Amino acid sequence: MRCPFCGNVDTQVKDSRPAEDHVAIRRRRFCPACGGRFTTYERVQLRDLVVIKSNGKREDFDRVKLERSIRIAMQKRPVEPERLDQMISGIVRRLESMGDTDIPSKVIGEIVMEALARIDTVGYVRFASVYKNFQAADDFEEFVAELRPPTPKDG
Ligand SMILES: [Zn+2]
Repeated sequence: MRCPFCGNVDTQVKDSRPAEDHVAIRRRRFCPACGGRFTTYERVQLRDLVVIKSNGKREDFDRVKLERSIRIAMQKRPVEPERLDQMISGIVRRLESMGDTDIPSKVIGEIVMEALARIDTVGYVRFASVYKNFQAADDFEEFVAELRPPTPKDG
């Protein structure tokens, strides 16, 4: 980042912290050439989300792919298509407003599962079974058990 006082391009970041309820990162910068101090803000660029896959590969975020996986999980479920569209838009907005444009696929999967859990348990389990990549049936049962609403405690 070029120093606004002397034009030196080799400035240093002295401090970075979340700002505006984690919508931005505020960086305090220092110019070693002139001693000038200034602040920059880093914000999400809405259209440039990148998915970091579990093997480390990067891929441009594709809303269509996300929609497809959700629609497969929700096949023949009694949920209005409009409601699904709303849910998908909500997921994308959440991803867009995260502090970083590079988002691990795992995080996306978790956000989708969270959203699905609220509207349809079957869709949620279908989706989760793919994302969590269960090795054993036991694991899957344990997971389904976790889905059950907590029983109210006595007293
Ligand atoms: Zn300077």
